[in-house]
Amino acid sequence: MRFDIITIFPEMFAGVFSAGIVGKALDKGRVEIAVHDLRDYTRDKHRQVDDRPFGGQEGMVMKPEPIFRAVEAVRRDGDSRVYLLSPQGSRFDSAAAEEMASHRQVVLICGRYEGVDERVSERLVDGEISIGDYVLSGGEPAAVVVVDAVSRFVPGVVGKAGSVRNDSFADSLLDFPQYTRPREFRGLKVPQVLFSGDHRKIARWRRKKALEKTVRARPDLLEGRANASEDEDLLEEIRNERKDQ
Ligand code: SAM
Repeated sequence: MRFDIITIFPEMFAGVFSAGIVGKALDKGRVEIAVHDLRDYTRDKHRQVDDRPFGGQEGMVMKPEPIFRAVEAVRRDGDSRVYLLSPQGSRFDSAAAEEMASHRQVVLICGRYEGVDERVSERLVDGEISIGDYVLSGGEPAAVVVVDAVSRFVPGVVGKAGSVRNDSFADSLLDFPQYTRPREFRGLKVPQVLFSGDHRKIARWRRKKALEKTVRARPDLLEGRANASEDEDLLEEIRNERKDQ
């Protein structure tokens, strides 16, 4: 899987992908990341990538021509997808990351200034992606988020087989609570069930805690869940316990 990032600040990516899971994936050749300087696709001596907006208003807008040229130069034949990072895009989530990981190439365009000439959205891209309902000063931090989250779904990137499937949002649940040594820290004890050696009991406890966390922090995830009926008993238990509190 290959990512191509188009930006006016290629230096922002120096180092950010070199450590951790993405760094290892790059070393192993599971993913490739190429960062392209948008100014290399300009044709004037000032290497201008922005201009004043038609209709008048403060600020600058990114010009379409260098972006079209850059995408046309880096997009490979076959299975590629091109996305503009934008607060106006559809919300990036785990399902979107998994879908993107099924393609061989993802091209990410980072906007700056007041945004990007609308013709890029109209004609050039397969979609617009937002990483949340807030406005960043540029698409670069969003590109880092997308590359990291998508890479986790590329086969062989996350070490232990299947561990991505247990992460938060898999099966529309948040992850269960995790503990490690010491058994007791500042009077806070690790739940006894985790030392029981009874794998069925531990699995049930984890499922219940994942449901509890989701009910408390993200009840929206539980609406219309596919496997909801399997958890009905545990949810009933949780509802009764919450009533008693
Ligand atoms: N005027 C634009 C608007 O209100 O929709 C905001 C432009 S923003 C200052 C500059 C660039 O940052 C955008 O073109 C986009 O590439 C990026 N950006 C800002 N917020 C983002 C978000 N939530 N998700 C993804 N990209 C974002």
